[in-house]
Amino acid sequence: MTTAPTLDTTAVRIIRGEDEHLAHNYHPLPVVVSQGEGVWVTDVEGKRYLDLLSAYSALNFGHRHPALVAAVTEQLGKLTLTSRAFHNDKLGAFAAALADLCGKDLVLPMNTGAEAVETGIKTARAWAYRVKGVAPDAATIVVANGNFHGRTTTIVGFSDDPTARDGFGPFTPGFISVPYGDAAAIDAAIDENTAAVLIEPIQGEAGVIIPPEGYLKAVREICTRNNVLFIADEIQSGLGRVGATFACDREGVVPDVYLMGKALGGGILAVSAIAANRDVLGVIQPGEHGSTFGGNPLAAAVGLKVVEMLATGEYQERAVALGEHLKAKLDELIGHGVTEVRAAGLWAGVDIDPAVGTGREVAERLLARGVLVKDTHGQTIRIAPPLTIRATELDWAIEQLKLVLDD
Ligand SMILES: *Cc1c(COP(=O)(O)O)cnc(C)c1O
Repeated sequence: MTTAPTLDTTAVRIIRGEDEHLAHNYHPLPVVVSQGEGVWVTDVEGKRYLDLLSAYSALNFGHRHPALVAAVTEQLGKLTLTSRAFHNDKLGAFAAALADLCGKDLVLPMNTGAEAVETGIKTARAWAYRVKGVAPDAATIVVANGNFHGRTTTIVGFSDDPTARDGFGPFTPGFISVPYGDAAAIDAAIDENTAAVLIEPIQGEAGVIIPPEGYLKAVREICTRNNVLFIADEIQSGLGRVGATFACDREGVVPDVYLMGKALGGGILAVSAIAANRDVLGVIQPGEHGSTFGGNPLAAAVGLKVVEMLATGEYQERAVALGEHLKAKLDELIGHGVTEVRAAGLWAGVDIDPAVGTGREVAERLLARGVLVKDTHGQTIRIAPPLTIRATELDWAIEQLKLVLDD
């Protein structure tokens, strides 16, 4: 049971109902949200909370951003789904705008992040056999320890998180995992069968783990030198979160393949995509890959608006300015209930001193004070507010964290 004494009967009843009929694949905080606007959500009792999780960065533009809601509402009145058996009049414009944002020739639209990762894996393998000349079924992909790329059986097979992986085998072969942040280890793992290096430029789920400066540049150089594709999983780190369109931009690095998801759907729909040049993504032929819902007109309408919003640079600039503010404020908490802070743009991993409590306990105390965050890996809380947040709102939230740590 996830009931808490502070909850009244409506919320308790709803949570109890979920406990009866919902698979327990999550352990949510005991709050029942029924409305959202901008950076704020409201629970079934009318209590307001500042959302510092943003659905793991899927809500980079906040809840129900008016421009995104308008784009989707307009499209709802016209056409929602065709399947890719036919053309629709929205997908082309979305593809062109997204390819342009990425500086790539082609995109392949899917729905969830995990599907974008799978698409990247299939593309890399097809490229290895058809372009690089790797022997059939011999292609390998180098990944990093501590990775999070989604929940399919292939993806959890190369996770080193026992909770994600144990009990779900047998797994897909062809993956080699090396320490994250160690470019030499990638170099050493590559041989003539290597199709790709697949990494998160910043590891989100692992606790906002930022690799040493120069790592992404080194990975780029190693991939180029060995004729190996560099696949950047920007599903959580991308689309403005770190103060640039992509986390790879922080080192001026361009991967061969971008994987995008989460914020690409504007917090409204599941929209994901991969982007790459024609010499890579052009290997995929009709019938070899696809999705019933991928590239549907409703998703394309919201995705196009997201890309237009990002193309202004406004959200990236906000993430830079507010991110510096956030980092400075969080750094003040080190030694006062916080042991370490890792931050990039409006994204921070805050390690809680075990003497204060677990990450979960801090998240529950923040909930009671009207702030939503989520713990990860025991002692860490992740802070990822919508990029639309105001400095005063951020200050208030950090004040609540300070009070929680002092309790
Ligand atoms: C969330 C996430 C995924 C998986 O996305 P889903 O939409 O949940 O399938 C993949 N990679 C990274 C880095 C993520 O943060």
